[in-house]
Amino acid sequence: MKIILNNIIPFGSFGAINLFGVLFAKPNIRLTDEVINHEEIHTRQMRELLYLPFYILYVFEWMLRVIKNRGNLLRSYHEISFEREAYTYGHDLHYLSRRKPFAQWRAPHHSKVQ
Ligand SMILES: [Zn+2]
Repeated sequence: MKIILNNIIPFGSFGAINLFGVLFAKPNIRLTDEVINHEEIHTRQMRELLYLPFYILYVFEWMLRVIKNRGNLLRSYHEISFEREAYTYGHDLHYLSRRKPFAQWRAPHHSKVQ
């Protein structure tokens, strides 16, 4: 995975952001194997959705969950389908070799948080 350490992207208090398969991260962030794997899972999700729809669906689902969760941004973020898959399997460094297409919308992690 291509990683660009810099002080500009992402803005604010975010530590890292995956833009079209390139990871932009603050220089002080600790990029563990698990973090990299989490981001690689996002890259796989993006690729199969042809990138732009990934971001549209990501933001749309986040907004719906923020409404449902009465403004709780962090909880809503963790409930996004893409994040649930990435957080569930981030520690499993072999996960991507057996991942099924569109796994973010499949059980079991999909039904975990509702
Ligand atoms: Zn993530």
